[in-house]
Amino acid sequence: MEQILLFILFALTTGSFMYMLVCTDSNSKSLMGMIRRKLYTNGPSILKQLFGNKIFKKCSDLYNYVFYTNNRLGQMAYFFIFWMAFAFYVKFGLLKHFGDTPYVSHIHSVCGSLIFLCCNYFFYKTCTISPGIVNKENNNEYVKQYQKYYDEVQYKQNTTCTTCNIIKPARSKHCRICNVCVSKFDHHCIWVRQCIGQNNYKYFLLFLFSHLFLSLYGVIAGFLCLFGIAEKQSLFKLTYKNAVTGEISQATFLRVFLVISNRETFFVFIIFVCLIFFISLTAFFLYHLNMIRKDLTTNERIRKNDFEKSFLHEMYQLQKQEIRKKDENSSKRLAQLKLCWNSLNKRRVQGIFEGFKIVFSQPN
Ligand SMILES: [Zn+2]
Ligand SMILES: [Zn+2]
Repeated sequence: MEQILLFILFALTTGSFMYMLVCTDSNSKSLMGMIRRKLYTNGPSILKQLFGNKIFKKCSDLYNYVFYTNNRLGQMAYFFIFWMAFAFYVKFGLLKHFGDTPYVSHIHSVCGSLIFLCCNYFFYKTCTISPGIVNKENNNEYVKQYQKYYDEVQYKQNTTCTTCNIIKPARSKHCRICNVCVSKFDHHCIWVRQCIGQNNYKYFLLFLFSHLFLSLYGVIAGFLCLFGIAEKQSLFKLTYKNAVTGEISQATFLRVFLVISNRETFFVFIIFVCLIFFISLTAFFLYHLNMIRKDLTTNERIRKNDFEKSFLHEMYQLQKQEIRKKDENSSKRLAQLKLCWNSLNKRRVQGIFEGFKIVFSQPN
C-alpha cells in the first residue's frame, strides 16, 4: 500500500510539473505562473551552482537534444509507456478478473482492446498526416485563407519567412525543429515528432480523447472488478480487528479497499496509473476545447499574453508621463498603442460547435 501511495504522490508531482511547463501562462499571476517564472529565470543558475559548469553543460545539451531536435525519443517513450501500461493491465486485470465477476464480462476485454487499437490508429495518424506545410506553390492560397486574421499587431501583411522565402500567412509560424512554415500552427509535439497545425489538429484531438477514454474505461472496469472480488470473498460481511488497539469493527469501503490492495497490489497500482493518465489527459483536452471555443492556437495564446504584458507596461508608463507633462509624442504613441490593444482584443470567439466544424472540415 505504501508503494502505491508513494507512486501516486510521485505521479501527482510529475503531473503538476508537466502541466505547469505546458499549460501555465508564463505571465499568469497564479501560484503556478509564479513558480514557472522563478524556475525559468533562476533555475539554470541554481543548477549551475549545484552541479558545476561541466555537468550543467551536459544536461543542457541533453535537454536541447530531447526537446529541440527532430528525434524519435518522444515516440519511443510514448510506445514504452502506453504499451507497457496496457500489457500490465491485461496481465493483472483483464486476463485474471474480466469475466470472473458479475460486473465486468468478457465483452469488455474485446471493447477495451478495440479502443486500444483506436488509440494507436489516432497516434499513427497524428504522426503521419502533414500539419499543413506552407511552400511557394500553396503560399497564396494560405495567405488568402487567413486574410481576415491580419491584425497588424500579431500578424502583419507581407512579412516574409526568411528561411522559407515565402509570405507568412496569418496564424502560421516557422517551426525551428521541423524547419518549415506551418499553417495555423498550434505547437510542436515531441510525442508525435512533428508540428500540430491546420490539417492534423483533428487527429491530435482524437488522439487525446481516445487515450483519456481508454484510461477512464480502465478505471471504471478496474473498480468494478475490485468490487466483484470483494463480494466474492465476502469482504463486506467480515468484521475487522485493529492490530494496535484490538478494537473490532464492521467493514467499510476503505477497509475492504485496503485488504484488496494487499491481495491485488499490481492491479490496484495499474488502476491508479490509469486514473492519473485520465486526469492529466482530461486537463489537456479541456484546455484545447477552450482554445477551440476562443478560436486561438496555443502559439497565439502565448504571443497574445506577451503582447498584452508589454502593451500594459508601456501604456502605464505613457499615462504617467502624460499626467506629469503634456507631451505630444507620448500622447501619439499612447493613441497608437490603444489602437493596437483594441485590434489585439477583437474577440474571435466562435463557440465550440462552430470551432469543431472548422477543425474537422480541414483536408488531410
Ligand atoms: Zn518558414
Ligand atoms: Zn515542428
